[in-house]
Amino acid sequence: MDLAYLSIREAHELLQSKKLSAVELTQYYLDRIAKHDDTVRACLTVCSTEALASAKKVDTKIATGEEIGLLEGIPYTAKDMFLTEGIRTTAASKILENFVPPFSATVIEKLNAAGAILIAKVNQDEFAHGGSTENSGLHPTHNPWDIARVPGGSSGGSAAAVAADYGIFSLGTDTGGSIRQPAAYCGVVGLKPTYGAVSRYGVVAMGSSLDCIGPIARSADDAQIVFDVIKGRDERDATTIETDEKRREIAKTKPMRIGSYATIDVTETKFGDIAGFAEAMQGAGHSVDLSPLKSASKKVKDNVALAAYYVLTPSEISSNLSRYDGVRYGHSSEQAHNLRETYDKSRDEGFGDEVKRRVLTGTYALSAGYYDAYYKQAMQVRTLLRDQFDKLFEEHDILITPTTLAPAFKLGEKQDPIAMYMADIFTVSANLVGIPSISIPVGFVDGLPVGLQLMAPQGHDADLLAIASVYQSKTAWHDYKQRSPQL
Ligand code: GLN
Repeated sequence: MDLAYLSIREAHELLQSKKLSAVELTQYYLDRIAKHDDTVRACLTVCSTEALASAKKVDTKIATGEEIGLLEGIPYTAKDMFLTEGIRTTAASKILENFVPPFSATVIEKLNAAGAILIAKVNQDEFAHGGSTENSGLHPTHNPWDIARVPGGSSGGSAAAVAADYGIFSLGTDTGGSIRQPAAYCGVVGLKPTYGAVSRYGVVAMGSSLDCIGPIARSADDAQIVFDVIKGRDERDATTIETDEKRREIAKTKPMRIGSYATIDVTETKFGDIAGFAEAMQGAGHSVDLSPLKSASKKVKDNVALAAYYVLTPSEISSNLSRYDGVRYGHSSEQAHNLRETYDKSRDEGFGDEVKRRVLTGTYALSAGYYDAYYKQAMQVRTLLRDQFDKLFEEHDILITPTTLAPAFKLGEKQDPIAMYMADIFTVSANLVGIPSISIPVGFVDGLPVGLQLMAPQGHDADLLAIASVYQSKTAWHDYKQRSPQL
């Protein structure tokens, strides 16, 4: 039986009809990891024993003739930001290299309760700081489409794991693009839900006012199934909200007004087949206007939003990462002779360069005398940006941009941190404003996959999934299964 690239529904059907056991399905992915991960290097911790034990339980249930849920027995991977009880969780940092959490994140608990099977914790940029997974404190990951290239980041291990068929879906985190950008680079779907739609409890914090959790999958349908299970209010995360369930029906029946959020021509072939997207959407009864947005309607230019992001995020990072002090958990320096040295040396030895850069710039932006010039001003930009989107959403239901300016770059190509930051130009705004955003495959440039980014008003996550699903029913970009010749 060919098990390559099963969708959740296909796998569910095989399991329920007993054509395939959950143990066989789990073993298929574990074998793929064993065969290919010396090349891709997406995995940090493979949970074979736990995964096979969970699969056995599902098989016992199926044997009794009981109906199983859609995610029951479905193998998945999770970025190493998600705390997993009894399973090492590193955030790809040396400071947490041997950390085994005493409890699991809400999303992991929810997936467990739904019967999904965690088969591996996967790589990322250290503490999710980056866009290539080269900042991982453990090792870089390679893009399954071309192993000389990065898979994107920071959820690079997640996107690579889905593209390399190491499980049907993955969980990622997105603070400024970390689900969408790697999804684009690896030819898969990445959903960054509305801020607060998914609980952050038990997820390593980066920028708490921007962090979002979402699925990376091969289709909008799979992403929807996972989102439905992980979303919702959680009393352990006070920022959680319910998304607008009414949108689900509205999105299916109402014609959407789709417009471009970019000031450049998005129909150029260097961004993939966005013209084809417009055509498919018009064919489905939606209105599409892809003419470049007039600069005048953008009071906050993309580079200003990016600058605000790179002030606010490091500020929140500098505060969030102060908990890694070598005292309660994580790496504690053996060279320290007193408490002060424990703090200094543990952090110096445990954190990588990019993490240190962000802690330093964030501390600076928050310090007395500089706060008004940096943090406060960036917050004001954030408010203006929110107003700008509110205005644009009066005339559009959905705004689009390319997810990235270009396909995946080569490992080592972007040495300058600023060049790496520039790659986030289209993705950070959705996080600053808290709106949902999805990246879907929209064709190939130089043989490499590229993504289209869709954004909708807060709580309208269903609109994005509905549009993406219509698009995927009419096109096959998400179905390409070509991999690097090395795999
Ligand atoms: N690339 C962005 C950054 O480096 C986004 C990271 C993220 O979303 N976690 O901050």
